Amino acid sequence: QVVTRFAPSPTGSLHIGGARTALFNYLYAKGRGGKFLVRVEDTDRERSTDEAVKAIFDGLSWLELFADENPVFQFARADRHREVIDQLLETGHAYRDFLSAEETGALRDAAKSEGRDFVSPWRDREPTVDDLSKRHTVRFRRPLDTAVVVEDAVQGTVRWDSSSLDDLVILRSDGAPTYNLAVVVDDHDMGVTHVIRGDDHLNNAARQSLIYDALGWSRPVFAHIPLIHGPDGAKLSKRHGAQAVHEYAAMGYLPEGMRNYLARLGWAKGDEELFSDDQAREWFDLSAIGKAPARLDFDKLAHVNAHWLRLAADDRLAQLTLDAHLAAGRDLNEGDEARLQQAIPFVKDRARTLVELADQTAFVLARRPLALDDKARAMLSGETAERVARLRARLALFQSWDVFALEAELKAFAEEEGVGFGKIGPPMRAALTGGLVSPDIARILSALGREEALGRLDDALQ
Ligand code: GLU
Repeated sequence: QVVTRFAPSPTGSLHIGGARTALFNYLYAKGRGGKFLVRVEDTDRERSTDEAVKAIFDGLSWLELFADENPVFQFARADRHREVIDQLLETGHAYRDFLSAEETGALRDAAKSEGRDFVSPWRDREPTVDDLSKRHTVRFRRPLDTAVVVEDAVQGTVRWDSSSLDDLVILRSDGAPTYNLAVVVDDHDMGVTHVIRGDDHLNNAARQSLIYDALGWSRPVFAHIPLIHGPDGAKLSKRHGAQAVHEYAAMGYLPEGMRNYLARLGWAKGDEELFSDDQAREWFDLSAIGKAPARLDFDKLAHVNAHWLRLAADDRLAQLTLDAHLAAGRDLNEGDEARLQQAIPFVKDRARTLVELADQTAFVLARRPLALDDKARAMLSGETAERVARLRARLALFQSWDVFALEAELKAFAEEEGVGFGKIGPPMRAALTGGLVSPDIARILSALGREEALGRLDDALQ
């Protein structure tokens, strides 16, 4: 059974790079009837925070990437890590190093200036009973002068000279197991078969592979994916704009839009741009992950999101748009929700995000009397105002408030008046919305409902 995991370090919010890593792991496992797990790598006690843990899980649940088991917290497993370190000491794959940090630094500098790799003298020295009571670290005893070869599912065959890798400290002098050791033990114990992560961890794969080998454990398949770059090709950073998943939620992207877009970021199935979760699971494969960094493209994201917005159920969109209105600081009155429900189908094919949906339905929430902007006000005078008044009178008698019936009624009115619709639409829109851009008049009328619509026309004609 395929088992993958997402292993974030809880030092900040969930970034889109992390979200994509999580998604790839999720898709790979789910497409193969496997398990997707989450492990919180909280061994860095200074930088790990509870807020970050919460932010990461909030981000994952917003994206609907749920793990199949309870999360594993790495720090809580330190005893198990130490147990494995003892095992490595017993089998000679690790040794105790009694050098102080200063001594290590000095020896390292000396080795460097002579063009040698640093090796602690304790690698080949048996500690006395007396020594053992002293403060020390434990280092992994790497094999020297051999090639470490990793067959990476994305990067291909990657080689290192083992001598260049250092005898990694696996237990700090304060008794804390170190990162690379913990990752190996946890992945092994969690039954992880595929490690899909950012290619900034490629060198760790070499170190971790040596630890797997020393323990006689089989290595997982590694897949190191290129990082995400900004639209300009530079490594993603603050100046490119939003990085955290919650910022994308606030910008009005739908989780399914985000998943679709992120899946395409660095992975492709031919020219397919828009696909469902089921298709993504079925199609996703490590072999189709590109080796070059993917570039973030906000236009494409908006385009993908627009597709999912059109497919989303209206009542769900109404609810989400309501939230977007609240987030924009607009307050809601009785009846707004129902009117919003009415308006959503009329505007959703022109919006790309929930924020745009909120902008385009803002007229629904406007309070009477509407504040008309200057252009709108100018439009409602003289002859035009008289025409709007005639239409108002006619609509007051009109029985049906259905959008198609209203459309026909407006058309009939224009014909009777002998004017084009261009003479009716703009002033009506001004009176009904306070502005000049929004859906067509029949839709506005229908969304507002009879009473509100007639009331707004009265206000504007005063
Ligand atoms: N905790 C690491 C990170 O957040 C991930 C390590 C891994 O996936 O093995 O970068």
